[in-house]
Amino acid sequence: MSRKTWAAVDDYIVDALFEADSALEAALAANRDQGLPPIDVSPAQGKLLSLLARIRGAKKILEIGTLGGYSTIWMARALPMDGKIVTLELDPHHAKVARSNFERAGVSNQVELRVGPALESLAALGAENAGPFDLIFIDADKPNNPNYLSGAMRLSRPGTVIICDNVIRDGAVLDGGGHDANVVGARAAFSFIGGDKRLDGTAIQTVGAKGYDGFAIAIVE
Ligand code: SAM
Repeated sequence: MSRKTWAAVDDYIVDALFEADSALEAALAANRDQGLPPIDVSPAQGKLLSLLARIRGAKKILEIGTLGGYSTIWMARALPMDGKIVTLELDPHHAKVARSNFERAGVSNQVELRVGPALESLAALGAENAGPFDLIFIDADKPNNPNYLSGAMRLSRPGTVIICDNVIRDGAVLDGGGHDANVVGARAAFSFIGGDKRLDGTAIQTVGAKGYDGFAIAIVE
């Protein structure tokens, strides 16, 4: 089966199951117009994040890797009125586009966007006692996955759900001897989750508009 079919099935899922959300569509258009890379989650994946947040009853969400805020908006939509999502982004241009997307989507008052290296932002959140978060979505520079997972653990409580994106990478995750830093990062996420007794996790392979990849999901015990 081809990537074209996977994308067509993603469209079918969206048409059959989702209410149109003009702000989400506008965010993707703005990202494109502003030259951001098309590496946001797919609509079906965004909806999954939103459902997981609702299933968890999340009131506090942390996202590492904002880009133009497409996934942030999906998760913000799942929050109760008094809920909040903190999202971390390195690139000031991405952050500027994201802020305008949040404004258009009407979620600005529930989103706190911190600009800078995520490891520094995570340390600051720890120092401010900003945790614990109910759900943490890791989707930034992949070589830092184990550092982000460590940071996430420090900002967690039993029951926190941690999701780490892009851990299958067209199956390249099998390549233990390779030098692709993103694959090394994906494998490090598996090692971290598998090696930490406080985490119970799995990974799900996915195909769709974004190709063949997958995410790891774990709960803090
Ligand atoms: N979660 C977004 C979505 O689905 O809409 C996509 C995030 S994109 C895959 C990864 C983002 O992480 C990029 O915007 C990139 O600039 C950001 N990033 C890369 N390295 C980072 C770092 N060290 N600290 C914070 N953000 C970083």
